[in-house]
Amino acid sequence: MESSFIKELQRHLKTSENIVVLTHHNPDGDAVGSILAMWYYLKNKYNVTAMVPNNFPDFYKWMPGADSIKIANKEKQACADLIANADMIICLDFNVPERVGALTHDLRQAKAIKVLIDHHLNPSNFFDIAYSRVETSSTAELVYEFIEAMGDESLIDYNMAVAIYVGIITDTGSFSHSCNYPQTYTITSKLFEKGIDAAELQRLVFCNFSESRLRLLGYCLSEKLTVIEKYSTAYIVITNEEMKRFHFKIGDSEGIVNYGLTMKNIKLAALFTEKNGYVKLSLRAAGAIDVDQFARKHFTGAGHKNASGADIRKPLNESVEEFISILALYENDLAQK
Ligand code: 5GP
Ligand code: MN
Repeated sequence: MESSFIKELQRHLKTSENIVVLTHHNPDGDAVGSILAMWYYLKNKYNVTAMVPNNFPDFYKWMPGADSIKIANKEKQACADLIANADMIICLDFNVPERVGALTHDLRQAKAIKVLIDHHLNPSNFFDIAYSRVETSSTAELVYEFIEAMGDESLIDYNMAVAIYVGIITDTGSFSHSCNYPQTYTITSKLFEKGIDAAELQRLVFCNFSESRLRLLGYCLSEKLTVIEKYSTAYIVITNEEMKRFHFKIGDSEGIVNYGLTMKNIKLAALFTEKNGYVKLSLRAAGAIDVDQFARKHFTGAGHKNASGADIRKPLNESVEEFISILALYENDLAQK
């Protein structure tokens, strides 16, 4: 981690009393893991709040410290006040202010120093101090790197190690993608020295779903999967009605998009979920196609080369049709080899 980033941050920390550690809308395991690790680190010295714009899935609620996370759309005024009164806002696991959804305006208006620690491509220059590294597995890994660079590695305890490990395994699909960077393993090995149990954490994160989530997955795979052989693409569309039928809870669609890529020859997988007033698109890629660029160019979304997403402000059918019509532009990237 660059010493200029650490020095500047330390300078601002000297005059900070109130700190908010914030992550993106619809938080995933890396979002929750990285804010919890940072919150544990700072809470002995500062008045610090870990905050998410909206609720996070039940299968992360077991994490130590999860009960302390403020959920902004449940405590609107309290969270708006915390942001307005903060001296520093540490933004984790997102690269543009709009990713905090309904909190975007509060974040933009805040007088606080805005610090970014993230691993997404093309961070916005909105942040006052930024550390961005795209080759890293997860933001949680960067939080470890940050604490180490602050000279406080010995303060990383079991609870922080759990949070960091959850961030790493959720963003790498348990070390199956975005995991070619040696530091990921160096840091992971240090987490084991803090007493974490890999099998237990794997089970808590990936074997902790509801029955209806599993049935929704089964339904999507048997009834809703469409394969376009010509473009090596597989996609799934979930309507509002289907979500209701399967008692959809936040997080239930997480991971479903990945199944498309488990098929031989498939290079691009997409999941469309119908939300109130918009469609959430998730994209996953293997091979040449860059889905960060794909999402940016056609759907004002973003993400990583192999995993990206967007919110499409169009009806479901139109969104899907548009996606299909765009595939021809990527014929070369999607060609079978
Ligand atoms: P997921 O499909 O799991 O929701 O998201 C995959 C990746 O794309 C994540 O890294 C996430 O941060 C990013 N992403 C998902 N949706 C959006 C979006 O609407 N805008 C931007 N900028 N990134 C997104
Ligand atoms: Mn992440």
